[in-house]
Amino acid sequence: MTLEREILELKLESQFEELVASMYDKQIDQCSDEELYLAILRLTKGMMHATEPNEGPKKIFYISAEFLIGKLMSNNLINLGIYDKLSEVLAKHGKNLTRIEELEPEPSLGNGGLGRLAACFLDSIATLGLPGDGIGLNYHFGLFKQVFKDHKQTAEKNDWIRPESWLKKTDTTFEVQFGDRTVTSRLYDLDVIGFESGVNQLHLFDLESVDESIVKEGTIDFDKEEIEKNLTLFLYPDDSDEAGNLLRIYQQYFMVSSGAQLILKELKEQKNDLRHMYDYAAIQINDTHPTMIIPELIRILVEEKAFTMDEAIDVVSKTCAYTNHTILAEALEKWPLKYLEKVVPQLVPYIKELDKRVRKKYDDERVYIIDKDDRVHMAHIDIHYGFSVNGVAAIHTQILKDTELNHFYKIYPEKFNNKTNGITFRRWLISCNRELSDLIEEKIGRGFAKDAMELKKLLEYKEDDGFLDSMEKIKQDNKLALANYLKEHEGVDVDPASVFDIQIKRLHEYKRQQMNALYIIHKYLEIKKGKKPVRPITFIFGAKAAPAYIIAQDIIHLILCLSELINNDPDVKDHMKVVMVENYNVSYAQRLIPACDISEQISLASKEASGTGNMKFMLNGAVTLGTSDGANVEIHELVGDENIYIFGEKSEEVIAHYEKADYVSKDFYKKSPVIKEAVDFITGKQLLAIGDKKNLTRLSDELLNKDWFMTLLDLEDYIRVKDQAFADYEDRRSWKQKMLTNIAMAGFFSSDRTIEEYNRDIWHL
Ligand SMILES: *Cc1c(COP(=O)(O)O)cnc(C)c1O
Repeated sequence: MTLEREILELKLESQFEELVASMYDKQIDQCSDEELYLAILRLTKGMMHATEPNEGPKKIFYISAEFLIGKLMSNNLINLGIYDKLSEVLAKHGKNLTRIEELEPEPSLGNGGLGRLAACFLDSIATLGLPGDGIGLNYHFGLFKQVFKDHKQTAEKNDWIRPESWLKKTDTTFEVQFGDRTVTSRLYDLDVIGFESGVNQLHLFDLESVDESIVKEGTIDFDKEEIEKNLTLFLYPDDSDEAGNLLRIYQQYFMVSSGAQLILKELKEQKNDLRHMYDYAAIQINDTHPTMIIPELIRILVEEKAFTMDEAIDVVSKTCAYTNHTILAEALEKWPLKYLEKVVPQLVPYIKELDKRVRKKYDDERVYIIDKDDRVHMAHIDIHYGFSVNGVAAIHTQILKDTELNHFYKIYPEKFNNKTNGITFRRWLISCNRELSDLIEEKIGRGFAKDAMELKKLLEYKEDDGFLDSMEKIKQDNKLALANYLKEHEGVDVDPASVFDIQIKRLHEYKRQQMNALYIIHKYLEIKKGKKPVRPITFIFGAKAAPAYIIAQDIIHLILCLSELINNDPDVKDHMKVVMVENYNVSYAQRLIPACDISEQISLASKEASGTGNMKFMLNGAVTLGTSDGANVEIHELVGDENIYIFGEKSEEVIAHYEKADYVSKDFYKKSPVIKEAVDFITGKQLLAIGDKKNLTRLSDELLNKDWFMTLLDLEDYIRVKDQAFADYEDRRSWKQKMLTNIAMAGFFSSDRTIEEYNRDIWHL
């Protein structure tokens, strides 16, 4: 340890003691965990405030509807470099930092991978010392809180904001004008501290007149038309009716109008020439939700800064870049022009102008902004009027170029580029799996925290039984810790000596939780017939389903019913267990991932743009069972055939099925007795005795008559390969080597690498 560091740590101890004394007139050991939480919050905020901001001539603004940041205490302490010392100080007084952090409510500002990616990116941007701020919204109830009742999901409001939190209220306010009203936005900031580096900001805008009381207790119900009160209450409010759609547009414009005003204010304060805006700012548009920032900036430059239309379009197009996250048609936003006319009439002439220019140049309806049904294709605005279009994994970008966005690729080949997603190792290794991180540090030093490729050095220990055993011991301890947590929080007993097979991600048919459920039925029936697995298996799920997504609700119902049946069946429960954890979120992910043996990444090939859960699992020594989809393809290339389980049809084959419309799920059902038996079980009398006939029948009908995401296509291969994985697990030495290889090769998936590429190819900071 350097002298400087020693002094800093000595100071930290006395500083914290003094702070606690001044706040409570007590010593640390006399304080409650709540009191200590607030003291650490204050200490940490003070230290971040005192840290130099990252500065430079040009800044990136990462604008996103979601920032799934997770709890911040541990991460901030780690990045400030005081985590270990503070734990030690607390421990000296009989206090436990991990327990204290449990008191922090998890911010509910995101839904899934896209929002978590934005959070990892902010960490990496700050760590690399790049000037870069996030822009988003401060949702009071965020995404709903999931509660299970009668084997079904119910949704409650998720209030996470406390009087004292990481949020800093600022004096910055803006007026946001809609067609029928004007509201005020207020800026709240969160410090984003890099790992042993400077500070950036996450700017979260809130509605000044927001009113939490319009939401009924224990529900997510509110009046969608009370815009002055509801605008920043929920992330992704129900959009199954017109009012819900309009509300989403209100939210999006609220975000981009506030964001645009903030960016222009900063540029003005720095005395930067707006005509060269792109020399001082880059704006990364995370999926289509923030797309309106393009016409909004053009509008402001024309109406308030005396730009001609040509000039404004030119400058904005050189400033904005777009990230595509999906090829699912239903997820590509298309707003009816008449909705935009109601909510943001001031933008409509600009959107029409942008469309007109496209039509003049290209005689191809597929690239128009406004289609023949008067719907505005938001992604088309981004592609024509941004300078970069990136996909999020190699295969995803290839599919965009070859099929989904091929007509755009032909026009603008130079705009298209790939940026394979990544995750921050500070949260997804150092913070969530401290023991593994320490073991790695013991062997190869601490360099991997900043240069993740150093993990490759671990390959040298592939034949080192001492190391392999230590690694396995940590996995075992993590499984035990998870088993205890599940006992306490879900009320189930799981065997820590069983194989932990985990699928955690948003619930969606393309992610195919239903296929995993069919495997579980198959396994259950085998055990009933006397074919027992050599080792018990624990199947764990975690997933929220959008409240209006009916089939997703039905899949949750099926899993919860299976869990009830199996965990209580005396013939079976010692051989397998099924657990669906309630309210899966970042904090839960941080407990589940370090305890996983088999990582389920089983989306229908071509449909998962990248996935980032797959990377987190790999980094923590789980072995992937997956399709050739998203970043699984790159994981496969890195670890080789021996260290991953790949099954199912390839993306080209799947795309061909859609083109030819030749997939008929019933054919698979009729042909295979195994499939038939499993599907029939969904509506068999055992499950009907537990669950709701309506839901189970609807799901079974869906699988037999539609199955848009081709569950039955891959089911047999899935069963075969999954059984192989369970068999291989018994060759313990070779399994430990697989674990090691996965950890060692995970370096590529550090979001530091991803951000270096964004900067090198797109932002040029
Ligand atoms: C990483 C993460 C995701 C994304 O998981 P995928 O498997 O890539 O879909 C979703 N939710 C949470 C809480 C996460 O941490």
